[in-house]
Amino acid sequence: MSEHFDTDAIRMQTARGPHHEHSVPVYLTSSFLFDSAEQAKALFAGEEEGLIYSRYGNPNTDEFVTKLCAMEATEDGIATATGMAAMFASIAGLLKSGDHIVASRALFGSTVQIMQKILPRWGIETTFVDATDPAAWDAAAGPRTKLFFAETPSNPGLEIVDIAAVSEVAHARGAVFVVDNCFATPYLQQPARLGADIVTHSATKFIDGQGRVLGGAVLGSAELIEPLRFFARQTGPALSPFNAWVLSKSLETLSVRMDRHCENALAVARHLDAHPRVSKTLYPFLESHRQHTLAKRQMKHGGGLVTFEVPGGEAGGMRFLNALAMVSRSSNLGDTRSIATHPSTTTHAKLTDAERAAIGITPGTVRLSVGLEAVSDIIADLDRALQTT
Ligand SMILES: *Cc1c(COP(=O)(O)O)cnc(C)c1O
Repeated sequence: MSEHFDTDAIRMQTARGPHHEHSVPVYLTSSFLFDSAEQAKALFAGEEEGLIYSRYGNPNTDEFVTKLCAMEATEDGIATATGMAAMFASIAGLLKSGDHIVASRALFGSTVQIMQKILPRWGIETTFVDATDPAAWDAAAGPRTKLFFAETPSNPGLEIVDIAAVSEVAHARGAVFVVDNCFATPYLQQPARLGADIVTHSATKFIDGQGRVLGGAVLGSAELIEPLRFFARQTGPALSPFNAWVLSKSLETLSVRMDRHCENALAVARHLDAHPRVSKTLYPFLESHRQHTLAKRQMKHGGGLVTFEVPGGEAGGMRFLNALAMVSRSSNLGDTRSIATHPSTTTHAKLTDAERAAIGITPGTVRLSVGLEAVSDIIADLDRALQTT
């Protein structure tokens, strides 16, 4: 393992086959051969290390996890078929009936649905808090609290959670702190270095970076990952070898892509912040962001997302999206292509008006995932669409 992020991302590869491929091949196989009946017995007994079946492990998924662990500074991890499988495994693999979660109220929509609709059926309750206030986490915790769950920057309000401060509160309460690091990626911030116990990813976003495949990961100490590996092996959210291969190749270019995403996003944010038809622009590295100092301390750059408010409420937001000629209308993010989303009618439509207001989503809110196109073309398209609002 190198001290350098890019060297790990590029040079950590699984052992080569007899053909000495320079680029790692896709190991499209569901199972692996045993040399003898005795070897099979030893592998199943855990007395010998080796590959058995791709739900348990595969060279491509193993390579993806090994690279991510090096980049996130974690000991161990599991790869999952989607980001949501990672979020769910990090909770269901650790908690039992009667346990309590304290979570940010500004989490990804499906994570909130798991906590509000699925976990209560199994006797696990969640209290949602203003995640930007470490004292709120402490106030919500009690003797049954086993897990803290946060996402930073948040979607789409781009709120910053002080990972070091909330880690301290979690540990004082005896809770495991999980951070969904999807928006930042390990290039911009490494939550485990700041005290988080578990780092989760939707690799579908910036890690793939080209809008092709779904994937996820859960990373942490060997001790915490052990029960999660058991959970994943038995319940089966395994990442496919092909998707793992795509994601592993993508990690090799993560830093160069993120540098450009962030550079473009900062330029777009500055432009929108000064635009007469935009009433509010949120971006962690804008001086006007209320947690600008914390963002600068915790993150390398401001990330690839910009959230802003167009005039005219829901109708204005929809006119804006419909008037875009280049920027895509889609719900994904972290693609080479810029993507605009209208959260209040799509990704956050299941929330109540009050829940949306609490995390800063109004009918005129637009979330922009800034891509890698020439920034002048992105800005020209936004300006054109803003004329119609
Ligand atoms: C997209 C996303 C997820 C879910 O990931 P999938 O790969 O779509 O399952 C979870 N958390 C965040 C922050 C996301 O943006």
